[in-house]
Amino acid sequence: MLDLLLPQRCLACGRSGAAVCDACLASLTWIEPPLCERCGSPTAWPVRRCAECSGRRISFESARAALAYDERVRAIVAGWKEHGLRRIAATAAELVAAAIPRPPVEGLTYVPPDRTRLLERGHHPAERLASELGRRWELPVLDSLARTRAAPRQRGATLAERRRNVRAAFAARTQPIPGSICLVDDVYTSGATASACATALRRVGARHVWVVTFARALRLR
Ligand SMILES: [Zn+2]
Ligand SMILES: [Zn+2]
Repeated sequence: MLDLLLPQRCLACGRSGAAVCDACLASLTWIEPPLCERCGSPTAWPVRRCAECSGRRISFESARAALAYDERVRAIVAGWKEHGLRRIAATAAELVAAAIPRPPVEGLTYVPPDRTRLLERGHHPAERLASELGRRWELPVLDSLARTRAAPRQRGATLAERRRNVRAAFAARTQPIPGSICLVDDVYTSGATASACATALRRVGARHVWVVTFARALRLR
């Protein structure tokens, strides 16, 4: 309902019109092969593990993202979080479904919200994205994960700090869990959150965890 009260503006450039205008849509940077098979980082040629993820313990099978997390996508995601417009989640899901094949899973779940931020925003982008993708991919969306403590601010944290921050920060709550499940989130930054969630899902019986995100940070070391 709120959608109707707000002027329709492009989140990336502010021009009136769609949530993402045609000009911005055309200028988005898609994440395209060749990719690292595991973490989905763009690489010079297809590899099983890349410089970004090799030597790291990663609990998920593979991660894929639709778009590079650049200036423009950052603005879209910020507007999405702030306004929570349903049409933005739908647009995001459309872009994800255009870029990423449906993963071979029995259901979708999402990185759970931090309670304080959920109350502030009144919506949870990852859940909305999962539900829109679930409709498109005809997969059930499971509310499988919970946070065991408040989410720390990850912005500006080093990779080691990010991993420490999210270690044991998630617990799975749905039983039984499907053997193969896809974790949905808005942005993949270091993979630390995705891997911690995958660990929690595997602990209750998921054997294969795929990760799908709207955007992905590139070249984080
Ligand atoms: Zn625009
Ligand atoms: Zn990799």
